[in-house]
Amino acid sequence: MFLLVTSAIIVFLSLLIYLFYASYYIGSGVYLKAQCKLPVKEKTVFLSFDDGPSAYTTGVLDVLKRHNAKAIFFLIGENAEKNPEFVRVIVAEGHEIGNHSFCHKGTFPLMSSKQIAEDIKHCNQTLTDITGKTPNLFRPPFGVTNPLISSGLKKTGIPFKTIGWDVRSFDTMGGENAKIVDRITNQIEPGSIILLHDRMEFSAELLELLLTRLENEGWTIGVPKFEE
Ligand SMILES: [Zn+2]
Repeated sequence: MFLLVTSAIIVFLSLLIYLFYASYYIGSGVYLKAQCKLPVKEKTVFLSFDDGPSAYTTGVLDVLKRHNAKAIFFLIGENAEKNPEFVRVIVAEGHEIGNHSFCHKGTFPLMSSKQIAEDIKHCNQTLTDITGKTPNLFRPPFGVTNPLISSGLKKTGIPFKTIGWDVRSFDTMGGENAKIVDRITNQIEPGSIILLHDRMEFSAELLELLLTRLENEGWTIGVPKFEE
């Protein structure tokens, strides 16, 4: 009896861990296939910024320009609507943009697939109205994937490609910039996609430190293109 109960508990816990991994680890590919790296062999990495545009986006853009680096910005529709001029500058400076939902609410992964589809379409329409281009790249809020999001994405009718990352900087948690840069450089491999955010006061300063370090270590920043 004891053995049976123990085994049942182990099976149950393993299932929970698996479900957590499937939902919260974007690279798992369980519910949604996400591209988390780019196929390059040389010392090239790719930069992605989530949650903008914000008041700190222009600072980030200045650093990118100074280092002649391109990035992809996964924009929140609501923020884009508030700061359309920042979106236009991102595109004008040759960066890629993608859809990061309209509302980016904590409850997003729990909304119905119909609501999820509406939200994603709302974000895409907002970005299309601002830039004249229709994004086809999507990154789910918080990197969470589940059956509702996967079904919602299909219901949009837009042929989205989901883009994840393989290097999480945890920049939003703050701390010393040098430590964040260490965390990133310890994980990178050729083709890595680094997850960053352009919504913190220190975002530009952190990026400056990161790019200087990457350049000193012989890395180049690739242009993030996600063709089929
Ligand atoms: Zn986000």
